[in-house]
Amino acid sequence: MAFQKIVVPAGEKITYRDGQLQVPDHPIVGMIEGDGIGPDISRASRRVWEAAVEKAYRGKRKIAWMDLYAGESAMERYGGNPLPDETVETIRQYVVAIKGPLTTPVGGGFRSLNVSLRILLDLYACVRPVRHYAGVPSPMIDPSRVDVVIFRENTEDVYAGIEFPFDSPEAAKIRAFFSREFKITIRDDAGIGIKPISVFGTKRLVRKAIRHALERRLPSVTLIHKGNIQKYTEGAFRAWGYELAKEEFGDVTITEDELHAQHGGQQPAGKIVIKDRIADIAFQLMQLRPDEFSVLAMPNLNGDYMSDAVAAQVGGIGIAPGANIGDGTAVFEATHGTAPKYAGQDKVNPGSLLFSGVMMLEYMGWHEAGQLITDAYEKTVQQKTVTYDFARQMPGSREVKTSEFATAIINNMGRGFNKA
Ligand code: NAP
Repeated sequence: MAFQKIVVPAGEKITYRDGQLQVPDHPIVGMIEGDGIGPDISRASRRVWEAAVEKAYRGKRKIAWMDLYAGESAMERYGGNPLPDETVETIRQYVVAIKGPLTTPVGGGFRSLNVSLRILLDLYACVRPVRHYAGVPSPMIDPSRVDVVIFRENTEDVYAGIEFPFDSPEAAKIRAFFSREFKITIRDDAGIGIKPISVFGTKRLVRKAIRHALERRLPSVTLIHKGNIQKYTEGAFRAWGYELAKEEFGDVTITEDELHAQHGGQQPAGKIVIKDRIADIAFQLMQLRPDEFSVLAMPNLNGDYMSDAVAAQVGGIGIAPGANIGDGTAVFEATHGTAPKYAGQDKVNPGSLLFSGVMMLEYMGWHEAGQLITDAYEKTVQQKTVTYDFARQMPGSREVKTSEFATAIINNMGRGFNKA
């Protein structure tokens, strides 16, 4: 397919076959800079990723960046269209992409581009690892106890986009249908939203979460839900999650009940504990006893709240990375928004996008480059060279611009090691 505005650089395609990602030495990776602060953090992060790959593999490996457009950059180029078909199609073909934040109008206008991308590409798992990096300021006494990976279902729940304004004919029809068929009265001035949660959507998400725990030898997967109130959506998520664990991973998982009834509370070697918590108490426990959690799997809305809440415990969304992953296709993204008041000021923390890039390098199997970045980031923060957000929490620190922070990280990278 010939593209209208996208220039494909020299390089090779990443492919996904039989459940395996094949990554060449010069992979083409899509990049959407994003709106607002997007260009500042994208350009700074790109320099760090490139330096790390160069240092780790001494020129044997190199990413060929392919600029893609969404949001304001697309509207300028594609006659007002914020999400051109060719952007979506390119990501589908080239499998891996990374993006900065995109503007979403509140209470009207076009649908969230992030949500659209997730649904169009069926990126059904939003994966957010949240852990503390040494030196990063935190409101917790011991933030090192936070080390979780959140798997949030990305395509269902109240994010499915089935919503009707209170004064629309559709809402009136639905209210009339409920009154006629079920004798349920909904106020005449109520907007209507639908919350679908399916067996299919739940099981593929929980499958990914358990596989992640298995691959990384993590101790538990917790299903987080509001099933005491929303019994047939959130409650069903819990039931189907346990069902999937038993059906497909019965030999390597045990439930928390079995742990206590059959093993005296002592986790047997080689078994992952599957447990569940109701969402409200889970938020509390995450602050009081975060080390009781490892991998978390949850429906869309709770996952959205939980991701930002846990991120706040270890330094805020300015540093929390994320990815939207389907079967093979993956879009890595900053978890914060466009912070328009800081746009173009070269001021904000590039950490969220930077570490999303580290997740991307790990996804590609380029772990050495990812590790170089993590180590150099920690070193830089420990030297108290930080952007404004950390500076205001770290007395005696030196506040630097986004670009200067990136340079400091690059300067702190150790000598390369060639394990490729
Ligand atoms: P936001 O852009 O995330 O910014 C809220 C605040 O978070 C900022 O004012 C800043 O706090 C802090 N912050 C965000 N990014 C930071 C960074 N890199 N470094 C340091 N601090 C950072 O949230 P918003 O103002 O609610 O949303 C703005 C727009 O972004 C909206 O259009 C929204 O829809 C969109 N959005 C997009 C995404 C996405 O693309 N994935 C996600 C969320 C929101 P202080 O001012 O207190 O320092």
